[in-house]
Amino acid sequence: MSDEIRYHDLGYGITCIDTQLYRSGLAACYLIEHDGMVGFVDTGTNNSVSILQEVLRRKGIANEKVNYIMPTHVHLDHAGASGKLMQEFPEATLLAHPRAARHLADPTKLMQGSQAVYGEKAFKKMFGKLIPVAVERIQEATDGFELDFNGRKLLFIDTPGHARHHYCIYDEQSSGLFTGDTFGASYPELNLGRRRFIFPPTTPVQFDPDAWLETIDKLMELSPARVFITHFGMLEGVEGLAKLLRQAIRDYAAIAQEFASSENRCKRISECILQDSINYLLDQHCGADVATIRHLISFDMELNAQGLDYWLTTQNVT
Ligand SMILES: [Zn+2]
Repeated sequence: MSDEIRYHDLGYGITCIDTQLYRSGLAACYLIEHDGMVGFVDTGTNNSVSILQEVLRRKGIANEKVNYIMPTHVHLDHAGASGKLMQEFPEATLLAHPRAARHLADPTKLMQGSQAVYGEKAFKKMFGKLIPVAVERIQEATDGFELDFNGRKLLFIDTPGHARHHYCIYDEQSSGLFTGDTFGASYPELNLGRRRFIFPPTTPVQFDPDAWLETIDKLMELSPARVFITHFGMLEGVEGLAKLLRQAIRDYAAIAQEFASSENRCKRISECILQDSINYLLDQHCGADVATIRHLISFDMELNAQGLDYWLTTQNVT
């Protein structure tokens, strides 16, 4: 296991840890260290707990020294290890979005929802058993909440669009935003072309394009120098990324509406957004061949299509 551990120091007391969901380079969580304070932004799944612990061991940080667990939202690649980590870190407080808190205290609905998306067998393999967090150890982080991380200000911002239970965290010290899925997904292997490739994860069931566009404007008002995205890593040149992401959100909504009355609409949306992404990447000379691109994003595009399909049902578009 220790050979497979991948993490790297990004500066500013921030470490990017690969949680090894499906493959390397897909999902990250972030360790923030500051003047004796220790916190994790996003948790990975139960399968990644041993990785996080090994990173702490190598850094000489005892379990008792972890102060905060900060899942950006309750989707399980971000929050799935919350319960287990809270068991491992006896002094930690779980900082949860107000809409996320009750699901982390009682993960029954979360498990049911994810089983519906992934299927029972795959769910078990990917996420294991979700452990409830004692209510008294959960603190709600409302919009505008400022955490004093021993003199380092962490600002929590309500960011609907990907999910209504999503917050982002602005870290003054790094001029960086921890964005979970709100600032899109962008894989390093596909960012070698003329323009970068970023897409909105429209995972079921709360995709809201209008809210998402407003959220991006709200985040850009902070003029972040960098974003720490869960899928995957630190990205700079944020203004350019925001522009690409806004366009992608509009394109996704338009594609979904175009297929609203089609038969097999979920499959057709999935094929369309995958093909559009492939065309874009080839046009940008991203350096990856079609098989590699498919390998990296096909599953995302299927999930995205499911989310768009669900969104259409909420729009009363048939
Ligand atoms: Zn998510």
